[in-house]
Amino acid sequence: MEAYSRLIDLVGGFSPVHTVLARGADAELCYVHGKDTGNDPQYWLIEKKGKNITLTTLGLTGIVQSVSMIRGHKREHLLERKNGYGNFRSYTGQPVERLLAAAYDSISGFEFNDPRHKELFGWRADQIIARFGEMKQLYDEKDIVPEYNDTMVIAKISKSCPRACIYCPEPSAQGIQLYDMDTITHNMSMAKNLHEKYHGRFINEMNEGFLNTSSILWFHLAGRYLDDKAWREEIKEDNPCIENLLGRANLFGEKSTIRLKELVRRGAKGIIPDPKDIVGVFREHFPHLEKIYTFMGVPETNATSEGYLSELFNNAEGINRVLVGIESAHNPTSRFLGKKETAEDKTRAITMLQKAGFKVKVIVQVGAVGEGFYHGGRFVSGREGLEETAAWLKQTMGNSYNGKTGKILVSRYVPVEGTPLAEMHNHMRNIRPYGPKNSPEKEVRWFVRRLQKEGLDVVSIVDEDYEVAVQERRAIRTGAGRKETRSRNFQIPPSHFI
Ligand code: SF4
Repeated sequence: MEAYSRLIDLVGGFSPVHTVLARGADAELCYVHGKDTGNDPQYWLIEKKGKNITLTTLGLTGIVQSVSMIRGHKREHLLERKNGYGNFRSYTGQPVERLLAAAYDSISGFEFNDPRHKELFGWRADQIIARFGEMKQLYDEKDIVPEYNDTMVIAKISKSCPRACIYCPEPSAQGIQLYDMDTITHNMSMAKNLHEKYHGRFINEMNEGFLNTSSILWFHLAGRYLDDKAWREEIKEDNPCIENLLGRANLFGEKSTIRLKELVRRGAKGIIPDPKDIVGVFREHFPHLEKIYTFMGVPETNATSEGYLSELFNNAEGINRVLVGIESAHNPTSRFLGKKETAEDKTRAITMLQKAGFKVKVIVQVGAVGEGFYHGGRFVSGREGLEETAAWLKQTMGNSYNGKTGKILVSRYVPVEGTPLAEMHNHMRNIRPYGPKNSPEKEVRWFVRRLQKEGLDVVSIVDEDYEVAVQERRAIRTGAGRKETRSRNFQIPPSHFI
C-alpha cells in the first residue's frame, strides 16, 4: 500500500508530513506527525463523501478528538473534545455516541498496512464514554490539570491547599490533606488498573504523568517539620508564613486524618511521604512515563534548599516539568488575588527550579481583576498589572537554563462560583468589570501577542483546559445540557493547514 495519502490535501490545501496506515473505499487513516506544523501528532480519518470531506482527528490512544465536515473552503465542526477530561461537544445536536460510532465503523472495514495497528482503533462509542467517566475517579471536581491530554496519567496525592487565593476553589478551612503512602499507592494502582482496562497493551502510549497536588513541596516541608526539631524552631523565627501554612497541613490516611502539629506533639517521625519516594512509586506503576508534571508554589520553593531541589530532579528520575501558578508579577494585583509573594520572590523560586534542572512552566491569569480593582482608596489598573507582568516574564523566562526554555501558559480567568473573587465580580464589588470595548478574550489575545513579540515561548490555554473543564463542571452542577446546537462555520484560507 502506498505510504502517501491521496486525500490529505483535500483537507487544508497542502499535505502535512504523514504516513498512511489504512485504506477503505474513498477513505484513509493517516498518522500525521506534526513535525512540520508544530502540533502534537494525531491520526486523521479522511473520508470523501461526494463533494464533501469528513475529517475525524484521533489522539495517540486512538480516541476521537474531533469530527468536522469540509465543504469547499468551509469547515463545520460536528464534534469536539478539547482535552483529556472527555467533555465532548456536539455542535449540530447529533448524539455524541452516533458520531463516535460512525468513525470506528468506518475504520473497522479498512485494510491496514500493519494489522497490529488495527487494535488501537477498536473502540466502541459506549466504551469511550465509560472510559472518560471512570477516569474521573482519578481527580476531584475541583482539580484542574493543565495541558491534560490523551496520553497523560493522573495520580492524586493530596487534597485541598493551605493557601487562600480568592479565585481558587481549593482552599478549605481544614487546610491541605497530604495523603499517606498507602493512599498514594492505592490511587496509583487504581490509575494503573483503569488504564490497563481501557488501553490494554497500548498502555505504553500513556507517556506523561501528572502528580495531582497543589504543591508537591508541602510533602517535603511537612516531613522536615516533623523530623527536624531545629528547623522547626528556626522557621518559627525566620519564616512565620511557612510555619503558619504548615500549621494547616494534615496527614490523610484511610482510617484517620491527623494534624501535622498533633503528629509533632505525639513525637511521630518519618511518616510523611517524601516527594522522591512518591515519584519512585509512580514510576513503578508506569515505567514508560517520559514526562512527569506537578505543581510547586513560590513560598514552598523558596523555603526548600537548592540541594533538595537538585536531588529531587536528579534522583527522582522523573519530575522534569514543574508548573508554577504566579498569576501576576504585579505586586498589588498578586496581593489582591491572595498571593502575597512579591515579584522578587517569584524570580527567586523560578531561578532555583531552573538551576536544579526542571523545565518550568508558569501560569499567568488574565482578566481576574477586569479593568482594574480598588485597593486602599485607589484604582489599580488591570492593564498596568499585565504590562508589568510582561516585563517580568521577559526578564525571568526569556533565558534558557541547561538548554531548557521556560514556557508561559496564559489562562483566561473563569469565575468559579462560591469563590470570593467570583462574588466580587457578581456584585461589582472592588472590581471594575470590562467595559463594552474590552473583554477577557481581547485582553488574552493582546497579552499573548505582547509576549510573542518579546520572543517568549507562550501558549494560550484558553478554551483548551481550564475553561472547558470549569464551565463543563458548572454546567453539570446546574443541570445544563452537555450538548450544544451551535454550528460553527469558518473559511479555510487556501493552503492553510487546519
Ligand atoms: S496556591 Fe494554588 S491551589 Fe492553593 S489556593 Fe492558590 S491557586 Fe489554589
